[in-house]
Amino acid sequence: MVCETIRVRGTVQGVGFRPFVWQLAARLGIAGEVSNDGEGVLVRAQGESDQLDAFAAAIVAEAPPLARVTSIERVPLPAFSASGFTIAETTGGTRRTGITPDAAMCAACAAEIGDPGQRRFGYAFTNCTHCGPRFSIVDAIPYDRTATRMRAFTMCADCRNDYDNPADRRFHAQPIACPDCGPRVDMQLAEVVVALKAGAIVALKGLGGFHLACDATNEAAVSTLRARKRRPHKPFALMACHIGMIGKFARVSAAEALLLGDPAAPIVVLPGKNAALAASVAPGLDRIGWMLAYTPLHRLLCDGIDRPLVMTSGNLSGEPQVVDNEEALVKLSGFADRFLMHDREISRRLDDSVATVVGGQLRVQRRARGYSPAPLEMPRGLRHAPPVLALGGELKAAICLGFGSEAVLSHHLGDLEDAHTYDAFEAAIDDYERLFGHTPQAIACDWHPAYRSVQKAEEMAADRRLPLVRVQHHHAHIAACMAENGWPVDGGKVLGIAFDGTGYGGDGAVWGGEWLLADYRGFERLATLKPVRLPGADVAVREPWRNLLAHIVSAFGYQGGMARLRDAGLADAFEGKPVSAVVRMIESGFNSPESTSAGRLFDAVGAALGCAFDRVTYEGQAAVELESLACPDAAATAYRYGRKTVDGVVHVDPGPMWETLLAQRADGVPGGLIAWRFHAGLAEAAGCLAVSLARRHGARAIALSGGVMQNGLFLSLLLDALSQQDLPVLSHRQVPSNDGGIAFGQVAIAASQLLGK
Ligand code: ZN
Ligand code: ZN
Ligand code: FE
Repeated sequence: MVCETIRVRGTVQGVGFRPFVWQLAARLGIAGEVSNDGEGVLVRAQGESDQLDAFAAAIVAEAPPLARVTSIERVPLPAFSASGFTIAETTGGTRRTGITPDAAMCAACAAEIGDPGQRRFGYAFTNCTHCGPRFSIVDAIPYDRTATRMRAFTMCADCRNDYDNPADRRFHAQPIACPDCGPRVDMQLAEVVVALKAGAIVALKGLGGFHLACDATNEAAVSTLRARKRRPHKPFALMACHIGMIGKFARVSAAEALLLGDPAAPIVVLPGKNAALAASVAPGLDRIGWMLAYTPLHRLLCDGIDRPLVMTSGNLSGEPQVVDNEEALVKLSGFADRFLMHDREISRRLDDSVATVVGGQLRVQRRARGYSPAPLEMPRGLRHAPPVLALGGELKAAICLGFGSEAVLSHHLGDLEDAHTYDAFEAAIDDYERLFGHTPQAIACDWHPAYRSVQKAEEMAADRRLPLVRVQHHHAHIAACMAENGWPVDGGKVLGIAFDGTGYGGDGAVWGGEWLLADYRGFERLATLKPVRLPGADVAVREPWRNLLAHIVSAFGYQGGMARLRDAGLADAFEGKPVSAVVRMIESGFNSPESTSAGRLFDAVGAALGCAFDRVTYEGQAAVELESLACPDAAATAYRYGRKTVDGVVHVDPGPMWETLLAQRADGVPGGLIAWRFHAGLAEAAGCLAVSLARRHGARAIALSGGVMQNGLFLSLLLDALSQQDLPVLSHRQVPSNDGGIAFGQVAIAASQLLGK
C-alpha cells in the first residue's frame, strides 16, 4: 500500500469535483478523503501504486464537464489509516477566484424535463452539478446555497436526498430545485407560446436579465419590436431549441457547432440568412448571431414554438438590461405585450456573450454570461505582483482584478456615457471587490482624461492613497493580447498591430491604426496610418460620409477628390450635405482632430460603397456592413498603400488604395469585389509592414489587437498574410480584442511596473 496527497488546481470547486473523485475512488478501490481548500481540491489517497497512477490519470481525463484542471501534483505521504473514502467538509476556505460561470443546461437535465415520467418534467428551473446558474445568483463565497439567491427556497425532502447523496448528479448542486420547492414562473408556458406564435412581443426574465422575445420568422412582430425599441438596424440575436434548427437557417461549421453547444452557450455569429427569417432581423447583413436555448425555461419555450426566437436584451436604449421584476414592469411595458417572470432573483446582470470562430479558433467578442468570471492566468514573471484593480476604457467597459498569478476580467458592463450604465459600473467595482475579497494596492486606467473610468480611477486612487498607473490605450490592447497568450516578461519585445476605433494618443490625435514595438513596460510607436481629419469629431463617427470626404480630400485635395467622386458616381450621394462647410473644417482643423483610426478607414470605405453612408445607428455599422458585402476574389490583386517616414514614424498612406478603389468603382466593378480587395489590401499592408518592422527592431512575436480584429474577414486575411513568416503570431481568444479586453492589459502593465520589470 502507498499513500500520497494529490493536489488539483484549476476550476475545481462548485463543479461537482469532490463527488466525482469519490465515485472514482470507489471504482478503483482507493481509500482516503477529498476536500476543498484555498488552493483547490486536496485528495489523500491510499492504494496500490498502479491503482494510484490510474486514479490520478482519471482525475484529469474524466473531470466533470464544468471543471478545468490546470495542474495536478502528487506527493508521497506517511501511511495513514483509512477505511473507505470520504468527502470532507470544507475547512481551509475556498479559492477566491473559484466562482464558476453560469452553465447551459446539460443533456441529462434536458432529457429529464422532456420525460413525463420524471418529477422535473416540464420544470423550468431544473439544474444539476454539471449545469445551471452560478455567477448570476451568487452573493458571497464560499459558494453555498445560503450565499445564493436560492436561499429563498427551502429544499423539499426529495431534493435534500439528492443533494446529500454523493452518487447523485445533484450532490451539492446549490441551486437544486423541483416543482415542489423551487422557483416558479408566473404564467402558463403554453399561453406564452400561443402569444409568441400570434406575433406578440414577450418580456422574459432569463438567467442574467430580461430579454425581449418574438417569433423571428414573423416580419410584423420583428419590425414592431424594432419600432418600439427605436433600433432600426442593429442586428438581433436569435435563439433556437437545437442545433438542427440553426442548420436550417445558417451555415454551421463543426467548430461553430461545438461552440454553440459549449456550456457557455454564447451567441455565435454565423454566415447565411434564410428567406424564412424576417428580413428585419439583421438588415444589410449576411450573417446572424445565434444561440441555443441555455436554460430549461428557454428550452421549453423554444420547443413549444418550434421556430427561432428573437432574443434581444430588455432595456431602454443605451441603458443596462433590466433584472428586477418591478423594474421590468415599469421600463419594458412600452415594448412588451406580455411578461413572463419568475421568483428567482438575479444577483448581477449578465448579458449574453458573443463569440465567433476565426482561423479555427474561438474568439470571444463580448465576454459575459458563461465566460465571466473564469480566471485568466497571468504570464510568467508577473505572478508575484501585488493586487491591482484596472478600470478599462469607456465603451464596452469591463474591469479587471489582478491577483498576482491570476486575473478576473469582469463581465461586459456597457458604455459608460449612459448614466445608468455608469452607476452599474460603479456598483460592479464594489461587487467584484467584495465578492472576490480583493484589496488593490494600485489602480490602473486609460490615458484619456475624459473617460469616466479614468475619473473614477483618479478618485479611487486619491481616496485610498494608492498609486495610479495610466496606460496608453493601444499599449493596453497589445499587452492584453500578450498576457492572454502567456507571453513571459522576459520574452522580449513584440510588434503589435493595434487596429481600433478610438484611443487617446496623448498628442491630440485620435489613434487607432498603430504598429507598436512593445513589452509590458512600455511601447514605441513605429508606424501608424496617415492622420486624417475627423470633421466634427464624434459627428464624423456617426456620419460616415464626413469621414469619406475627409479621406478623399486628404488623398487628392478638394478639387481632385470631388472629380474622382464624380467619376465614381458618388457625387449624388453628397447632394444636400454641407460639403463646403465640412471641407472648410477639414482644411482649418476646426473641431476636427486628426485621426489615425483603422476603424474610421473602414467606415470611409464602407460609405464609398453605400454602407451606412448618411449615418450609423449602431457602433461600427458601416464596417460591419462592408465586411458583410465582401465577396471572395482570390484572383484580383489587393489594393496597395504608400509609405512615408514622418519624424521617424512610418506613415501608411491609403492614397494609392483610394485611387484604385475609386477608379474601379468608376469602371463598374461590383461593390462586393471592391470590399474584398480593400480587406485583403489592408491585411497585406499591415502584415508586411509588421514583419519588416519586427525584423528591423528584433521583435520576437507579432501581436494582433483592437476592435478591428473582430472583423472576421480582416483577421483571417491578416492571419493568412502572417502565416508565411516564422515569428509567432499572438491573437485573442478568451479576451475580447475590443475595449472589453483592455482592463486585462492594464493589469499586466501595472503589474510589470509595480515589480519594476
Ligand atoms: Zn444538468
Ligand atoms: Zn424539491
Ligand atoms: Fe480600443
